[in-house]
Amino acid sequence: MKTDQSHVFNTTRWHNTCLMAESGKGIYVYDSEGKTYLDAIGGTHVISIGHGVTEVADAMAEQARQLCFIHKAQFTSEPQEKLANVVTTMAPEGMDRVGFVTSGSTANEMAFQIALYYHKLRGKASKYKIISRWHSYHGHTIATLAMTGSRFVRESLSPFDLLNFPHIQAPHCYQCPYKLTYPSCELTCANELARIIEQEGADTIAAFVAEPIIGGAGSAIVPPPGYYEKVREICDFYDILWISEEVITGFGRTGKNFGVDHWAAIPDIITATKALSSGYAPIGAVIVHQRVREVFDNATKNIPLSLFTYAGHPISCAAALAVQNYMAKHNLIERCAVMGKYLKHQLEKLAEREPIIGDVRGEGLLIGIEFVKNRDNHQPFSRSLGITEKIMQVGLENGLILRGRFGTGVGVDGDHILISPPFIITESQCDELVEKLELTFKQVKQSLKLVEVC
Ligand code: PMP
Repeated sequence: MKTDQSHVFNTTRWHNTCLMAESGKGIYVYDSEGKTYLDAIGGTHVISIGHGVTEVADAMAEQARQLCFIHKAQFTSEPQEKLANVVTTMAPEGMDRVGFVTSGSTANEMAFQIALYYHKLRGKASKYKIISRWHSYHGHTIATLAMTGSRFVRESLSPFDLLNFPHIQAPHCYQCPYKLTYPSCELTCANELARIIEQEGADTIAAFVAEPIIGGAGSAIVPPPGYYEKVREICDFYDILWISEEVITGFGRTGKNFGVDHWAAIPDIITATKALSSGYAPIGAVIVHQRVREVFDNATKNIPLSLFTYAGHPISCAAALAVQNYMAKHNLIERCAVMGKYLKHQLEKLAEREPIIGDVRGEGLLIGIEFVKNRDNHQPFSRSLGITEKIMQVGLENGLILRGRFGTGVGVDGDHILISPPFIITESQCDELVEKLELTFKQVKQSLKLVEVC
């Protein structure tokens, strides 16, 4: 369908034809022309259990028949209570309460407001700023845009002034912003957090927000060992909450329940959405540690947090509950870790054959590929070549759904893609993914006449 024939207002579509997705099964999506696509990004890092799981569809239909909606001001619902039990059981120790919202943006917005109230209720109302990192994306509401580090996104509303929240460098070892090497760097990137707190004044800072493994805006940037242990120490010292932003990494995507489980440190708040309901219904979770929750328990009046009408929607909760039960029944988080190792290894082998690949990184089925002109000094390609966009376009023509380079922060302004298929992917499907990727890279290099450059 031509986009000018569609009445849908969609300004993010990046080509002239509007592909009509008709159905999905497992890791594949089919369009109205009968073309098959291998969804290498699980619908932007959302889909964990695959398309077409009848147990989930049945649970949603049953809930719709039973009770379609109820507001949280007076009521809770059975699927919400059951889901809260499952989520808090999966969460790190001491994180014993969860609030449900509708998306990643609303989850981060709620975490931000919890941080403000937490300090206010303890008589520290001057603490309102959130420190975040360049190379991050936290959503598209006004507060979450202010947290976001991607300049491409931040500057989109200019000249509207976003809240002036401070940002620090991302822990990007492959393109270290300090030109240092781990471990002799002594975690300069984490210590930067203490420096910026001192500079701004600890009495103005409410929280530090960070994706444990940076997703879309950086393509699976994994911080070095010790990074979050250091973050925990710094946050405790300055009385600052640490929000682990797990919109992508939460609920198994990295091969553990939460991305932060790869480090020996427990945050104060976790926000998570995508793999929670595997895309069957919109829902987000804000998981709170008991030390934060206790401050709210002691409050004498009602606090107007998360008044979103659809927060805790019974059908979304029923969908997420069915998804999490399905994940547990089929050991899909363990499977994600195993298949992630296999796929990463195949991509590393591809990197040996393909000189434009500079780095393959990530955990579980969250794998980033960074493209470089020069592997020796990690020099990126000129952005004017639009390598990532070309790879996404040619990949689509080859029946491979890809996504990458969701705008970057300061420092590296290179090309990268993020691979994040559903956890049910098999070894032979991983091989198919890698084959299509290799073909796509070859065709893009030919079309851009890059063959002689690399
Ligand atoms: N944080 C991260 C890391 C994300 O990837 C996204 C969405 N891509 C968001 C926040 C915002 O989530 P939503 O689009 O559901 O509001």
